[in-house]
Amino acid sequence: MFAAMEAARLEALHLVQDPASGLRAVIAIHNTRMGPALGGCRYLQYGDERSAIEDAIRLARSMSYKAALAGLEQGGGKAVILREPHVQNRASLFEAFGRFIETLGGRYITATDSGTSSIDMDCIARHTQHVTSTSEQGDPSPLTAMGVFTGIRATAMARLGNDDLDGLRVAIQGLGSVGFALAEALHAAGAELLVSDLDGGRVQLAVEQLGAHPVACEALLTTPCDILAPCGLGGVLDMQTVAHLRCAAVAGAANNQLASPDVAESLEARGILYAPDYVINAGGLIHVALRHLGEPPSAVTAHLARIRQRLTEIYAHAQADKRSPARVADQLAERLLYGA
Ligand code: NAD
Repeated sequence: MFAAMEAARLEALHLVQDPASGLRAVIAIHNTRMGPALGGCRYLQYGDERSAIEDAIRLARSMSYKAALAGLEQGGGKAVILREPHVQNRASLFEAFGRFIETLGGRYITATDSGTSSIDMDCIARHTQHVTSTSEQGDPSPLTAMGVFTGIRATAMARLGNDDLDGLRVAIQGLGSVGFALAEALHAAGAELLVSDLDGGRVQLAVEQLGAHPVACEALLTTPCDILAPCGLGGVLDMQTVAHLRCAAVAGAANNQLASPDVAESLEARGILYAPDYVINAGGLIHVALRHLGEPPSAVTAHLARIRQRLTEIYAHAQADKRSPARVADQLAERLLYGA
């Protein structure tokens, strides 16, 4: 386990158990150079304990990179609570988790993630102030969408020489909390929308409310468009899918869009500009971080502009140095995190 921690440059790994509530959790604190580690708490079933720990480590690392490039005074961390098939008392489980977070004295701040909700965060908040995305603070998804929207403007400017979205053809994969809000913003800006979702009801809503063109899920990635916006699950871009893309740029909300790091070079070779996912989708993190610090919503909106600035800077470096934007983003983040 120490070798895995060293490979990920992880600062600390906490294993937590509380027999009374049935809590079994992992907290990975990746890097606190820029500030306390902030990152969501997953509540999922895992095949085994090792995969839960590996998930926490991998996700904590990516939170450090995201926070650093978003210009936040936060580090990266992540928690995973192992979900049992039958939960006795969900509230007492999250309360027990809150009590443990409190013992860390603020080194780790938790938030919602897959499988958890603002109600769970409210239970945690009964025992610690080191929690965000509670019911009072609200859903970060609309802010993630706003950040992706500004990032699409930066991407259109860099790749197409114009940030006017009127008439731009944007293909959105996934119309969930983020994808639908993004579609609304793009529609308001005059973009033409091509959309798919596994849930036909979401597609129907976009067709009726936003005049979107429905596309079959299996055809979305190969649909001719200006910008492809993956907003469903991660890992959608691999060597095979990239070979068949028919877009000028990829700029969407999904985490871990590249199935492996070398896919960035394939996109580059095909002349497809890629907006590094953890840079363009940082709006939700900016929301939870600043709201936790007591900043007003106006400060969050103002900070979102940094996503556009950061992407523009990354694209300029990438073009000048003939490297992929993904590599440039990683190197910028590592300079901030390690002074390398
Ligand atoms: P969500 O679960 O609300 O929505 C995802 C949608 O994508 C669902 O409607 C699902 O049916 C659809 N989908 C999944 N696979 C698909 C496929 N192959 N083809 C078409 N549709 C598909 O999730 P969300 O909160 O909107 O997040 C979307 C993505 O953005 C996720 O990868 C998430 O990790 C990432 N993200 C979200 C936030 C946030 O604030 N919610 C922040 C950063 C990153």
